[in-house]
Amino acid sequence: MNKSAELIEVFSSVQGEGMLVGLRQAFIRFAGCNISCDYCDTGSLTAPKHCLMEATPGRRDFFPQANPVGLERIAMHLEGWCRGWPGVHHSISLTGGEPLLHHDALVEWLPRLRSILPIYLETNGVPHETLGTVIDNIDYISMDIKLPSTSGEADLWDCHQRFIEIAAHKELFVKVVVGETTQDWEVIRACEIIAAVGKNIPLIIQPMTGKDGSVTVSPIKVIELQETACRYLKEVRVIPQTHKFLGMI
Ligand code: SF4
Repeated sequence: MNKSAELIEVFSSVQGEGMLVGLRQAFIRFAGCNISCDYCDTGSLTAPKHCLMEATPGRRDFFPQANPVGLERIAMHLEGWCRGWPGVHHSISLTGGEPLLHHDALVEWLPRLRSILPIYLETNGVPHETLGTVIDNIDYISMDIKLPSTSGEADLWDCHQRFIEIAAHKELFVKVVVGETTQDWEVIRACEIIAAVGKNIPLIIQPMTGKDGSVTVSPIKVIELQETACRYLKEVRVIPQTHKFLGMI
């Protein structure tokens, strides 16, 4: 009992990606990742000495909290936000890094956190062995399929396939980050993996963005990739990273 976890930051912001885009969430960013994407914008993924905790939701008035952080510290903080700003937050986003690397802590944390707000998991869709240990206390799953052309990760297809098979029991959507060099076969392979589990599972095509928030993929490329995906799946949306051009974290 009383498992703690290495965190990078706890903050409140607007969800900038995926199907819940625009909703306000309380974010818990976990340290560490099991893969290494070329486009990773999370900064240092190794655990810092201190986690940065936002005192007032969305106001960027961070204070340091020694790592690792325990459940009670996080739960009391988020309960305070919900008391002070009732109705503002839609859900708690578990993000990273890769939150599922902390599955031991999550098994203990999630029932308590879920009593505060629904739980939204942002995951790279690789650690399928651990998803099953926590899935009962997760409400929404946003998982990536890492395309080789943009992530630099060559062969995660089998892991993604097993992950989707487990994740499909929840409200699931899948995201692929596409760039100018993304090829049709990559999107087709991703679609086939998703369609084998369910053609109704939404796919988000997320055009790559530069550090300044500008999209680095040509509109025609995005249109063509969406047309390809629509041959396999019923719901294919193009959604860029909106938090970047809003200047939010
Ligand atoms: S999965 Fe996410 S956190 Fe991990 S390296 Fe890729 S972009 Fe970064």
